[in-house]
Amino acid sequence: ERLHNDFQFLDVSREGPKKIEAEVRKQEFAEIYEPFAEEDASDQAHRCLECGNPYCSWKCPVHNHIPNWLKLVSEGNIIEAANLSHQTNSLPEVCGRVCPQDRLCEGSCTLNDGFGAVTIGSVEKYITDTAFAMGWKPDMSETPETDKVVAIIGAGPAGLGCADILARNGVKPVVFDRNPEIGGLLTFGIPEFKLEKNVMSRRREVFEEMGVEFRLNTEVGKDITMQELIDQYDSVFLGMGTYTYMKGGFPGEDLDGVYDALPFLISNVNHCLGFEKDPAEFIDLKDKKVVVLGGGDTAMDCNRTSIRQGAESVVCAYRRDEANMPGSKREVENAREEGVQFMFNRQPVEVVGENGQVTGIKVVSTQMGEPDENGRRRAEVVAGSEEILPADAILVAFGFRPSPAPWFADFGIELHEDGRVKAPEAGSFAFQTTNPKVFAGGDMVRGSDLVVTAIFEGRTAAEGILDYLEV
Ligand code: FAD
Ligand code: SF4
Repeated sequence: ERLHNDFQFLDVSREGPKKIEAEVRKQEFAEIYEPFAEEDASDQAHRCLECGNPYCSWKCPVHNHIPNWLKLVSEGNIIEAANLSHQTNSLPEVCGRVCPQDRLCEGSCTLNDGFGAVTIGSVEKYITDTAFAMGWKPDMSETPETDKVVAIIGAGPAGLGCADILARNGVKPVVFDRNPEIGGLLTFGIPEFKLEKNVMSRRREVFEEMGVEFRLNTEVGKDITMQELIDQYDSVFLGMGTYTYMKGGFPGEDLDGVYDALPFLISNVNHCLGFEKDPAEFIDLKDKKVVVLGGGDTAMDCNRTSIRQGAESVVCAYRRDEANMPGSKREVENAREEGVQFMFNRQPVEVVGENGQVTGIKVVSTQMGEPDENGRRRAEVVAGSEEILPADAILVAFGFRPSPAPWFADFGIELHEDGRVKAPEAGSFAFQTTNPKVFAGGDMVRGSDLVVTAIFEGRTAAEGILDYLEV
């Protein structure tokens, strides 16, 4: 055990793992943070005050036992830390990498008030990566046996969270996904510079050893019907995400060179991972002047993917100011370091082009008005502020709306007006839909949100399913 004192936070400042230099990292699709060295992880973990009122755990959507596993890491007890961390989270190594910690756990750390929050996310990632490297596996020796089998549609974080809890309770999960690999948006959305794909393939092996069965390249509604699942399984969980792309609704959006964010990112993943069926599917922005519209995580991923593809320039235009951006501050900083130019308070009004090809985007300047009923300040247009930003390619990253399957109605699965599936957490069984045998969670229930909230809903829905099946 290393020597620590109770005022470690005064002697040791907040220090995350080292970042690879921008000039190097912008050439490659690889994670940009080096792993924590053992003593650094221990020193950083020991900065935790054990303040007795762990706001961090409350603010974390899965309520991780953060102070407890920080203590174990500071004592060098990685295996126990991994066991503890997996009691509340199905994908801790993923959340450690991609959660917007600045507005979740770390944002509410007592030390955030002047001393610098404990590097909770980096320690969480460190625990699982290190435990796996030491040969750790989830302990399934106490798992009860049942004869129940549950079908899960979608191998994204919601489906995986559900599968994890079911498997640990002796219920066999069979997970269907139309994609060739598990992960949902973790694999086919979030780029490798935030989350390398071997993280998911390693997790897939762990889940398979736990008894989770994956049927990939299988679309429900096409390769197999929902009726077959309803007939053959004791319950069905839907974790199908949200895949309707939001449009700007301004003229010129259909010009050549205007792309939706997700097809661009997916084409890049497929190109990098060898999943590409036809090389013409690859959207290549090498040497292009790129303008990205939006200010969330998806926009940041488009920015940084364009940089890595060798774009001549990348400008990110966002209609609010920097303080009101919805994405993680860390990723905005990373994008800036890699050469993305931000233009805040710019609202697109028209895509301009010549001969059917985009040549630029007309924007107007905005200023922040009074807060609306949700406390978010509305952007108001400044008169006479029109300008054209030159562009050969425009990536539209305005977010996602629900994409309910056409067959939901045939099975009595009701929707809210905006297309989200009705599956209340506080129903008789958590996250049960209006078809008693069917449960749902993640983006398709709450609207597009975060990895960690999808994991939470998948896990909680699994508890609902266990209650429903009386196991
Ligand atoms: P998804 O991850 O969308 O998974 C749904 C799965 O269901 C998919 O694999 C899909 O193929 C499958 N499916 C759907 N219909 C069928 C069918 N009929 N048959 C078979 N399979 C089907 N969140 C963060 O916390 N941090 C980030 O940094 C972050 N970055 C993001 C970057 C991008 C580009 C995007 C798009 C999102 C990002 N998010 C981020 C949000 C996060 O990825 C999602 O909130 C989360 O993945 C939702 O999980 P889910 O399981 O509900 O859905
Ligand atoms: Fe923080 Fe996310 Fe980990 Fe919770 S899951 S402790 S919010 S990084």
